[in-house]
Amino acid sequence: MDNTEKQMDKKERAKERREKRRQEISLIRSIPYSDHQRWWSAETIAVVTGANRGIGFEIAHQLGLQGLTVVLTSRETAVGEESAKVLQEGGLKVVFHQLDVIDQQSIDTFCSWIKENYGGIDILINNAGFNYNIGSENSVEYAEKVITINYTGSKNMIKAAIPLMKPNHAGARIVTVSSRLGRLNGRKNRISDDALRQQLEDVDSLSEELIDGTLNKFLEQVKDGSWTTGGWPQNNTDYSLSKMAINAYTRVVARELAGRPEGEKIYVNCYCPGWVKTAMTGWAGQVTPEEGADTAVWLSLIPDMRISGKFFAERREIHF
Ligand code: NDP
Repeated sequence: MDNTEKQMDKKERAKERREKRRQEISLIRSIPYSDHQRWWSAETIAVVTGANRGIGFEIAHQLGLQGLTVVLTSRETAVGEESAKVLQEGGLKVVFHQLDVIDQQSIDTFCSWIKENYGGIDILINNAGFNYNIGSENSVEYAEKVITINYTGSKNMIKAAIPLMKPNHAGARIVTVSSRLGRLNGRKNRISDDALRQQLEDVDSLSEELIDGTLNKFLEQVKDGSWTTGGWPQNNTDYSLSKMAINAYTRVVARELAGRPEGEKIYVNCYCPGWVKTAMTGWAGQVTPEEGADTAVWLSLIPDMRISGKFFAERREIHF
């Protein structure tokens, strides 16, 4: 077998493995949660950001089907209301509220509203995201926007939600929709500086300052045009860094929250939905939004949750 044939063989096997896992998950999903597993009720409040379309809409849909109260949020009121209406007409307990994750005033208004009307949040799904590039394009023209929405926006929401998370015997949950593109040790796409990668990997010394400093360095290089030789991930550079950053921040927060007492636990995790057919990918991709939403819903509802600060894909833990 020559090298090209070996590569083809490897690709084929990877494709087969993916297909097998898709089938397994589809079978698992057909088994309903039993009564003793259902720690949630119609009074359990799940907030989903950027839920007017794509993966976020599907997460809202699936959580609604499980009988929770879903707060579908969107930065545009009219489109968000329309999306919520679709789910309400399907008999689900879904309410709409405006929320732009990079507008602090919008976040504050949302938090006051949720506190007043529902007393707090049980589950937060950080789904809102943006990628300017499609396919193999790699423009950094919108790097600041990409990083502000994907990293700062999710971080804003985590910080705003923590004081609102309701005490709950099963543990409150924060799930962020991230991407394998943000992996620190991806084979084809990663930061080339070994020392920086190690720092970003070491959960004990990881800090918000290190993450912010890394992103600021990249954004400075974008401004002065030197980013192409900066040793940054080669594929979807700005987007990959934004997702690397939110993955790292997930670990920082999980570490900070680890000491909370039983009954007040908050489990914070992130996951990659796969390559999903949505507007973000120009409707290319290997999986449907329904499949892409699955791991978020699973992480939100796991009955005996003990996992925090981890990264998942297809209902399995993967390496950061
Ligand atoms: P879409 O583009 O379909 O959806 C993105 C959503 O985020 C939209 O609802 C959009 O709102 C919203 N959004 C953007 N900016 C903000 C903001 N400032 N405040 C609130 N909402 C905002 O993409 P996907 O459904 O594919 O993406 C969902 C998440 O999944 C993202 O975080 C993405 O990075 C991640 N992901 C997607 C993958 C894929 O293959 N599709 C792969 C890996 C991760 P609006 O309609 O107003 O623009």
